[in-house]
Amino acid sequence: MARCSVCGAPAIAYVPYQRRYYCPEHYAEFVEGKVERTIEKYKMIREGDRVVAAVSGGKDSATLLSTLSRLRGKLGFELYAFHIDLGIGDYSVESRKAAVELARRLRVPLVVFSLWEELGYGVPEAAVRLRRPACSVCGIFKRYLYNAVGVELGAKVATGHNADDLAAYSLKNFLFQELEAIGKLGPVQEGVPGLAATRIRPLYTVYEKESFLYTVARGLPFLHRECPHARLDSLDFKLKEMLNRLEEERPSLKLGLLSRLAKRAKDYPRPKESYARCESCGLLSSSGKCSFCRLTERLSGEPLGGWVRKRIRELFSGVTGQPSSCTWGGTSG
Ligand code: AMP
Ligand code: ZN
Ligand code: ZN
Repeated sequence: MARCSVCGAPAIAYVPYQRRYYCPEHYAEFVEGKVERTIEKYKMIREGDRVVAAVSGGKDSATLLSTLSRLRGKLGFELYAFHIDLGIGDYSVESRKAAVELARRLRVPLVVFSLWEELGYGVPEAAVRLRRPACSVCGIFKRYLYNAVGVELGAKVATGHNADDLAAYSLKNFLFQELEAIGKLGPVQEGVPGLAATRIRPLYTVYEKESFLYTVARGLPFLHRECPHARLDSLDFKLKEMLNRLEEERPSLKLGLLSRLAKRAKDYPRPKESYARCESCGLLSSSGKCSFCRLTERLSGEPLGGWVRKRIRELFSGVTGQPSSCTWGGTSG
C-alpha cells in the first residue's frame, strides 16, 4: 500500500506532477497551500477586503468556501457566501440544501437568492417563455447577480472555476477566435468601480480531481449530481476529455497553459465599446439596457435590475449587520 510522502500514513491520493502520495490530512493541506499561494501570487485578496464566494452546492464551491474560510483570519478579509436557487426542480432543491449545510459547517454567513421567490419564475420557465436555451438564460441571471452582489457590497466575487474548466474554456474560445473572452479568463478579472465587480478565481491552479479529493479528505457536504441541462455531448465536455488524455501523457500541461494565460491575458483584445451604464439599473452594459434588464422586462413587464440591486442590499444587511442604505464605497481592488 502506498504511504503518505509526508507522514507515512496510508495514502489516498497521488499527485503525478509532484510524484508524491498523501494521506487525507496532508492532501487537504496540499490543496489549501496551493490556493493560498495562488491568491498571493495573483494578488487576489488584500487585507481588509470583503469577499463573497458564489456557492453552487457542488464540489468546487465546497473547496472554494472551505479554503477561503481557513484563510480569512490569516489574510484578514471578510467572507460571505452567496447561493442562487435557480428553480431547476429537485436539482436546485438539493443544491440549496448542500450550500446551506456547507456554510453552516464552515460558519460563513450565507445569503440565498431564490429566483422563484424573488422574481416568480425559475430558469426553466424563463427559458421556455423567452424561447432561449436554459443555459444561456441561466448564465445571464448568474452573471448579473454576482455582479450586483459585488457592487452593492463593495466586494470581490470569488467563483469555484477550476483549472480544468478554465483550460477548456480558453481552448474553446481559441477555436472560435473569441479573443476578448480569452482575455477574461485570467485569475483576476478587474472590475470597474460602481459598475462591475472584481471577479477572482482562487481555484485557478486546482484540478477538478483535486477539488473532488479535497472535499472527500475534509468530509465536506456537496451535491454529486450534475445540472439536468448539462450535456455530455457538448464541446466543453469533449474538450475537457481531450485535455485529460493529453494531461495523462504530460502531467501539468493545463497548469502550464493557465500560468502562461495569466501572464498574457492583458495582451488579448479588450471590448471596443467604452464602459456604459445600463439605462435602467446602472450596472455595466454594452448597449442601452443590460441583458438582465432586457430579459426581465420581457418576463415581468418591467426591467428588474434596479429592484434586484435593492433586494440584494436588504438580504445582505441581515448578515453583514450594516444598514441596507450603506453601499460600502463601490467595488474594491
Ligand atoms: P458553473 O457555472 O456551474 O460551471 O459553476 C462555476 C462556479 O460558478 C461555481 O463554482 C460557483 O462558484 C458559481 N456558481 C454556479 N452556480 C451557482 C449558483 N447556483 N449559486 C451560486 N454560485 C454558483
Ligand atoms: Zn500524511
Ligand atoms: Zn440593467
